[in-house]
Amino acid sequence: MASESVLEIRGLTKTYGSGKRQTLALNQLDLSVNRGEIFGYLGPNGAGKTTTIRLLLDLIRPSSGSARIFGLDTRADSVEIHRRIGFLPGELSLWEGRTGDQIIHYVASVRGDSRGIAKQAGELAEQLDLDTSKRVRDLSSGNKRKLGLVIAMMHSPELLILDEPTGGLDPLVQQTFHEMMDDYRAKGRTVFLSSHVLSEVQAICDRVGILRDGELKAVESVEKITNVEFNWVDVTFRDAVPAGLQRQLESLLTISDVSTNGARVRMRMAGDFDPLLRAISSGYVEMLHVEEPSLEEIFLAFYSGDEEKTE
Ligand code: ATP
Repeated sequence: MASESVLEIRGLTKTYGSGKRQTLALNQLDLSVNRGEIFGYLGPNGAGKTTTIRLLLDLIRPSSGSARIFGLDTRADSVEIHRRIGFLPGELSLWEGRTGDQIIHYVASVRGDSRGIAKQAGELAEQLDLDTSKRVRDLSSGNKRKLGLVIAMMHSPELLILDEPTGGLDPLVQQTFHEMMDDYRAKGRTVFLSSHVLSEVQAICDRVGILRDGELKAVESVEKITNVEFNWVDVTFRDAVPAGLQRQLESLLTISDVSTNGARVRMRMAGDFDPLLRAISSGYVEMLHVEEPSLEEIFLAFYSGDEEKTE
């Protein structure tokens, strides 16, 4: 069965300012996100992630191009779209003098079915260990973020758009958030989240897009790119790196980027460990440390082989 796309972006371009002070924040973005997937929109600061999200929500207007959500135009049909989505902005501004409960009840009443929504909000707050009786001004930035997540998710929207959702959350809460995203996907709902945290995207997303300088550099399934296997290996010897070891390692087909520092040798290794273990057995190995590559490194490795960009 062909997958149904929830989000379709075509040629979306945004330029801020005019004349010499013009910034091209987003350049000809083409992207589709399917129903039931968690899509990670990854990029360094200033890449254009927030600009994309603001365009999707019709908070700003594109210079050219268009986007459709649920088949509806993001400009012409923004009211209908807002009814069916949940949104967590990167910079959340909530009424500081109100309590979490007051804000939840207000937003729930605007959305209709306030009783059902408030009940769901209570469950989400409990999952996130958030005290909704406190005034916003008395909440830490992490707890404000949790309140933002509750408000974004409490009406069980078909599509969640989250801008840097876990910024300021401690690792335990991040783990809870990951579980919430898994539940969300299991219900056939869709999530579009921006992040610059590679491990997070790796842990929860089905596909990722990498944005740099306003351009989409790659779109790939997390599973496929993490199959590009290599590791960083550090070997520490008790005394010194055996003479000639660096050259011997460099001659192995599966090993590259070898560097020696004191009694330590570091290398990039693909494939089996056996050739390495044989090579280092001439010295007394005190410690062997294996480190997985970052998603960025995996992407670079994946795309250095002239692979076609796929969506
Ligand atoms: P971050 O991770 O830091 O939030 P981002 O990927 O969300 O970054 P954007 O905020 O979309 O990036 O910014 C993309 C580019 O557009 C940057 O060069 C930024 O300086 C510029 N920009 C964003 N908003 C405006 C604005 N209102 N006026 C002028 N330039 C802007």
